[in-house]
Amino acid sequence: DGATLPNASARIAELLATLLPGARVGSFVAGEVVEGTGERLDLTNPADGRVFLSYADAGPAVVDAAMRAARQAQRQWWGMTAAARGRAMWEVARLIRQHADALAELETLSAGKPIRDTRGEVAKVAEMFEYYGGWADKLHGEVIPVPTSHLNYTRPEPHGVVVQITPWNAPVFTAGWQIAPAICAGNAAVLKPSELTPLTSLALGALIDRAEGIPRGLVSVLAGAGPSTGAAAVSHPETRLVVFVGSAEAGAAIAAAAARNIVPSLLELGGKSANIVFADADIPRALIGAQAAIFGGAGQSCVAGSRLLVERSIHAEFVERLARAAAHIPFGQPTDPATQIGPINNRRQFDRITGMVDEAARAGARIATGGGCPEALHRTGGFFYAPTILDAVSPNAAIAREEVFGPVLAVLPFDTEEEAITLANATPFGLAGAVWTGAVGRAHRVAAGVRAGTFWINSYKTINVASPFGGFGRSGFGRSSGREALAAYTQAKSVWVETAAQPGVAFGYVG
Ligand code: NAD
Repeated sequence: DGATLPNASARIAELLATLLPGARVGSFVAGEVVEGTGERLDLTNPADGRVFLSYADAGPAVVDAAMRAARQAQRQWWGMTAAARGRAMWEVARLIRQHADALAELETLSAGKPIRDTRGEVAKVAEMFEYYGGWADKLHGEVIPVPTSHLNYTRPEPHGVVVQITPWNAPVFTAGWQIAPAICAGNAAVLKPSELTPLTSLALGALIDRAEGIPRGLVSVLAGAGPSTGAAAVSHPETRLVVFVGSAEAGAAIAAAAARNIVPSLLELGGKSANIVFADADIPRALIGAQAAIFGGAGQSCVAGSRLLVERSIHAEFVERLARAAAHIPFGQPTDPATQIGPINNRRQFDRITGMVDEAARAGARIATGGGCPEALHRTGGFFYAPTILDAVSPNAAIAREEVFGPVLAVLPFDTEEEAITLANATPFGLAGAVWTGAVGRAHRVAAGVRAGTFWINSYKTINVASPFGGFGRSGFGRSSGREALAAYTQAKSVWVETAAQPGVAFGYVG
């Protein structure tokens, strides 16, 4: 109906009461909400800047309880038939669909994401459990034709307990994205969401636990900060795999901590993706694509098309039309179903965006639109940053090289296809990219030439759980989603069976 919700705090309490047992906030461990022992952490509503809830950081004792419960549950889970595991995952999906409205609203009220986005993301979480539920009994090894008198076959086996650490930009989506393939492959998962946005991950953990067939403790969710609770989970002796989604800086520290215990890691990090528009493109489509690329999720998306490379002959007109369009995108309260751009998730990120845009302007970039918080929204106290386009950006400027993680587009013109590819690759990141062109051959040449884990031709941001996702270079390693995620979440065991009539091992004496 377009009405915004009057009192987020009371509504959040109501939603939590339907989603969490005990209606209090802490960590969700082995079917219960348990209070942490660490310092108190505040949750702030991004739409008004006010604290609406606080909770205690989990701390080492809660981490240890979650890890032990996970280890036990994992044995039980792996002992079930594959078909039974698949059925349990479909039951999880059914519960997510049943509580989809509450989950989406909780995400919107606590993380500031527009309700039209969170509804879509929650539906995708249900799809993830359906997709990987379907894989559970189709995940099998192979018989390898070895040149000896043996039968050799492989068994894809789980690692055991997987620790997953996630950021604040798409909390429930990211939680489901990592938990579903982990448990499909027979692992238990202990998830540590961002301390800024733990609520929907806790709710998801509780829904998973409620599903028939899921052993108690198979999925626990730790509410707490990175250096305290996250680090304790990463270095816990039961941890067998660490999956991290977040910044390259934290990712490097976490992978190093895991490596000290010879624990492998999978890293999904940031990006500085290039969206390349040629003069021969379908321009109206490219204009819409460029907006979705950078302004979707207020730019707080790892695959954001934050560098727009435009062929010089259409550069000036394209930027002018894009700037006009950007000023019309519904921007404001995340609870309004019409809103396409909501607030920035937190004050620190808002300040970072402000600082980077101001520095870019000082370095000579032209602000074609945006560049701050409009007065009307400023009065709300929320972290609203207007969709911003910076033109005349030098390829060496910080704004052209560093991830902003906000609704800020850096525009760079180019003259030739080679130059476009070179500019696109002038970044240590390699998460995503896109090309807009009417020339089929060029589209595929550019797709092959740009170093990125995901690439779109005449599209942007389309993703699906069935297709692999991950980074090249500084954007990380390993693949999440698709069949490829199952490779990351399993380890192959090679089994040898002697089949010869005579003993094949000729060594020593029988005695
Ligand atoms: P961040 O790296 O600051 O934090 C991510 C998570 O790591 C949080 O849960 C945090 O508590 C935890 N953490 C931080 N230090 C830790 C430590 N020493 N030990 C254990 N845990 C620790 O990232 P953020 O600010 O929450 O998110 C933004 C970043 O995430 C951006 O760089 C963005 O590009 C990236 N991201 C990547 C993807 C992807 O799939 N590639 C998706 C979304 C976001």
